[in-house]
Amino acid sequence: MSEESRGAIEVVRPPGGRRFRFVLFDFDGTLSLLREGWADVMIPMMVEHLEALGAGLPAGRLRAMMAEDVALTTGMPTMYQMIRFAQRVAEFGGTPLDPKAYKAEYNRRLMGHIARRREALASGAAAPDTVLLAGARAMLEALAARPLVLLLASGTDEPYVRQEARLLDVARYFGPHVYGALDDYEASGKKQVIERVLAAARADGRELLVFGDGFVEITSAKGAGGYAVGVASDEASGGGRVHPWKRERLLRAGADAIVADFAQHGPLLELLFPA
Ligand SMILES: [Mg+2]
Repeated sequence: MSEESRGAIEVVRPPGGRRFRFVLFDFDGTLSLLREGWADVMIPMMVEHLEALGAGLPAGRLRAMMAEDVALTTGMPTMYQMIRFAQRVAEFGGTPLDPKAYKAEYNRRLMGHIARRREALASGAAAPDTVLLAGARAMLEALAARPLVLLLASGTDEPYVRQEARLLDVARYFGPHVYGALDDYEASGKKQVIERVLAAARADGRELLVFGDGFVEITSAKGAGGYAVGVASDEASGGGRVHPWKRERLLRAGADAIVADFAQHGPLLELLFPA
């Protein structure tokens, strides 16, 4: 391994003698860049609602609070983020709407934000790989060539995840194992997906490898006994450098290793699947 490539992977705890059989990927920010900027849609929406209440704090303070709430719930079904927000509205003396209404408003705003990207993919004007994190396709191809079960799990509503995975031409790596948020959001979180898949296969948590850029997939992986690679992706640039804020949160969540993207898929595979 060259000095340069070693530098691209920050190893907190090496995987040791683990033999992985299941590899779970988060979708947004880990593989897909299609929803890049989602937090810049969600957080201002929250701040607008709180300002309209006369929350009494400067917009910068409200923004920082909401950014922290969103960071800690990133990766959970969107509904949880909206339930947390409804609690905030009540804390600030407002009467919250049904969290479903906040979620519908967020989806409407986000769809406006990403409509052009979706259309460009659907029409063929944009190549799928330009909307994937650097090296993601090569990493998926290499993993798919091994005797592994690949799983895709997202806090985004499942119909969107399926549609967007097809648009990005990555659905085929995951076969039946594409999981998104369902109306029964309490049963469709990543922790629940991991528990169900491991139980159905009578697998041990040590056989699980997880890649994610969110707090929740890392804590869910670690909770199950798995190995977690935090993808501290700088989504706006498509990869290439570690996003310091994400890195700090992923480490706090317990990530065993940190990468910026999958550009170093060769050394990463050597680390995770030593010969
Ligand atoms: Mg994500």
